[in-house]
Amino acid sequence: MRIILLGAPGSGKGTQGDLISGKYGFPKISSGDLLRQAVADGTPLGRAAEAKMKRGELVSDDVVIGMIKDRIKKEDCQKGYILDGFPRTISQALSLERMSPDGAEIVFDIHLDDQVVFDRISARRICSGCNHIFNLQLKAIGQREICENCGGTLIQRADDKPEVIKDRLKNYHEQRETLVVFYKEKNVYLCVEGDADRAKIFENICIFLDNKIAQAQRTTGTDDCL
Ligand SMILES: [Zn+2]
Repeated sequence: MRIILLGAPGSGKGTQGDLISGKYGFPKISSGDLLRQAVADGTPLGRAAEAKMKRGELVSDDVVIGMIKDRIKKEDCQKGYILDGFPRTISQALSLERMSPDGAEIVFDIHLDDQVVFDRISARRICSGCNHIFNLQLKAIGQREICENCGGTLIQRADDKPEVIKDRLKNYHEQRETLVVFYKEKNVYLCVEGDADRAKIFENICIFLDNKIAQAQRTTGTDDCL
């Protein structure tokens, strides 16, 4: 079972990925986390990515695809996995098809209006001590901007600044359209309303996912071929 999470930055797809992983036991694979890990470990792909980032360039599809390919070969992905932040482009989606062409697949597109995304990301702060992410919208008015876990100072990441969010959203929409068409044609695409509380969104996702899993079991006639 391959679960793909699409959604704008700030749509909450990472949170939903964690919830799905917790309930169904599939590992969540975040391309951003893989990239940071590869850089930290100094792997050949990590070094290639780091060189690009230092020059202020986007990490190429080849590097990202290579990391995903290595990751989904691992033992814990054999029954299923959740992809967060991948594929971002149609060429990544096509590579994914080539890597593992068989098996059940479901794509959840967590939909939010741009204004909501904009407000959410603008209110996002990261703790300089423990890297925990906070949403200032959820903090009580007048509450100090410090981390509840470690007391660290909360800072705004450079790419969460309003002027950058506009560019990120534009970029996201350009890439997203082709992916949506691609997955709709494969008949695996589901749009989920993202402007609800996380428990409600998760409930909706579970309904679809349970159906998909039951369907996959009927097709294969066994329950260990997800
Ligand atoms: Zn902290």
